[in-house]
Amino acid sequence: MRVIDSIFEAVFLMGFIIGFVIRKIYTVRCRNSKAIRKYKSVVDIILLSAAGIGMILPFFFMFTTLLDFADYHLPGWLGWIGTAIFAMALLLLWRSHADLGRNWSAILQIRHEHSLITNGIYRHIRHPMYAAHLLWAIAQGLLLENWLAGWAFLVVFVPLYLIRAPKEEQMMLEQFDEQYRQYITRTGGIIPRFWK
Ligand code: SAH
Repeated sequence: MRVIDSIFEAVFLMGFIIGFVIRKIYTVRCRNSKAIRKYKSVVDIILLSAAGIGMILPFFFMFTTLLDFADYHLPGWLGWIGTAIFAMALLLLWRSHADLGRNWSAILQIRHEHSLITNGIYRHIRHPMYAAHLLWAIAQGLLLENWLAGWAFLVVFVPLYLIRAPKEEQMMLEQFDEQYRQYITRTGGIIPRFWK
């Protein structure tokens, strides 16, 4: 049995728990908000499941010896950078959930009383929650000294984002039309745009 053996593994575990609690709170709040249109696709479900595996591999690394073959060493300062990036990811995750409210869903869908959110964290960036996951994935790699547990999430998340974001924007355009078209012109996708 392996146990947590570095401060950065403890940081990861703490961040994971905070992220899990944030998501749980808002999942419960969205529970009774019905969907009127769902855009499920097999590719989306496969990539979401793979991302889930990428997010839980760290537990096999931290608490078992199964992934020891992929261990490597990282300089300590990278762990501190990873800590700062993870903190930013959690802040973004919280703010995007708080601003999106009951419009949030794990799969692409339009809810019964869906409104287009363009303020708060969504004022300058259309995909802050995906940005939060990207930062999480980078932080995971910098905090955990294991090729698999560290980087698997990032390897899956990048194609997930590249495939999902255009589909989501197409869905939002069908629903909100000109309002979303205007919103696209004044915001960045995963990187905020502060100028018009
Ligand atoms: N791409 C966003 C939201 C991810 S959650 C982000 O990264 O922050 C995915 C769901 O959010 C989609 O099913 C869509 O219905 C909803 N959504 C995305 N952008 C939205 C917005 N600006 N206002 C309201 N709902 C939005």
